[in-house]
Amino acid sequence: FPSRLPHVGTTIFTVMSALAAEHQAVNLGQGFPDFDCDPTLLDAVNDAMRAGHNQYPPMAGMPQLREAVAAKIHTLHGRQYNAATEITITAGATQAILTAILATVQAGDEVIVLDPCYDSYAPNIEMAGGTIVRVPLTPGTFRPDFAKISAAITPRTRLMIVNTPHNPSATVWTAAEMQQLEDLLAPTNVLLISDEVYEHMVFDGAQHESAARYPGLAARTFIVSSFGKTYHVTGWKVGTVAAPAALTAEFRKVHQFNVFTVNTPMQVGLATYMQNPAPYLELPAFYQRKRDLFAEGLSQTRFKLLPTAGTYFQCADISAISDLNEAEFCQWLVKEVGVAAIPMSAFYGDGFDQKVVRFCFAKQDDTLRAALERLRKL
Ligand code: PMP
Ligand code: GLN
Repeated sequence: FPSRLPHVGTTIFTVMSALAAEHQAVNLGQGFPDFDCDPTLLDAVNDAMRAGHNQYPPMAGMPQLREAVAAKIHTLHGRQYNAATEITITAGATQAILTAILATVQAGDEVIVLDPCYDSYAPNIEMAGGTIVRVPLTPGTFRPDFAKISAAITPRTRLMIVNTPHNPSATVWTAAEMQQLEDLLAPTNVLLISDEVYEHMVFDGAQHESAARYPGLAARTFIVSSFGKTYHVTGWKVGTVAAPAALTAEFRKVHQFNVFTVNTPMQVGLATYMQNPAPYLELPAFYQRKRDLFAEGLSQTRFKLLPTAGTYFQCADISAISDLNEAEFCQWLVKEVGVAAIPMSAFYGDGFDQKVVRFCFAKQDDTLRAALERLRKL
């Protein structure tokens, strides 16, 4: 039978994690913490299960979790979302993004993505029958190029996807850039997915510029986030979408026939845990220290570091070390040196190679030191 996604293989994250396990490598490839979450959160979920929260929750998610998410967005960004009609709990950001695309994109609609971008966006657009329009971020700096974005908008453009803090480049959009996006989209009907899964990983005193802070953006945007990143529980697959009621209504039509609901006890436990803002308020300092530890070590190698303003990724140029392309280098690194990384080319539609690889520093200090010891030999 014909393939739905003929050009797609297994994701680079799955491939690299398997290679890392096979070669007993230090896995700095796929983005996930190698340390456990706060036991208080585990207790909250355990309590929820013991209290009998083990049947289907409401389709849109447990009310107390939607209320907690709405309250957090209001406190941090000053926009009040209605928990009943504008917040939906999803099976991770991945499902949120697919569902938002399926809910809005019809066959032949154009969707703008900014290359490099997270690897699920393009196949998701294809699954909806949409046309992928790739606009490159500025080479070298990875800043949005508004002239290029503007030139890519046509009457067929239905949706655009942005991501800040940005995977894989670790850049963070500025207020001026968000403002420019708001101005650019103002005369259009283009909808937006703002992928903000790394919202609490912004460093050096900078602020996360959520689309929620920009009224002209918020009115057209699905804001996507993920508890997996914020609370060190990527395996739980619980995420959120905040969007105006009309967009949320369309989102939920697809959501109910996609997953219908997301597991109940995690939602109840997360709602309890969210009452304390400290864990997410402390996250920037927690990860900035790890960034600095890893960057300091890597600066003593022949890798050339790119700046990390946000996320838990450190990108590095390999050109002083090897003539291999990124993908070959990562294969060699995991097999011969024992460290897994992700080639930046995996995030481009055309496999563009700029001799840059991505390391994940969401790891115990000892894991980072073990990786650095191996990388120092290069
Ligand atoms: N978007 C981006 C930019 C990501 O990096 C990730 C996680 N790798 C996701 C979405 C998916 O998040 P989740 O694990 O909650 O599905
Ligand atoms: N988002 C994670 C990363 O970029 C991986 C998630 C996945 O494996 N799909 O590394």
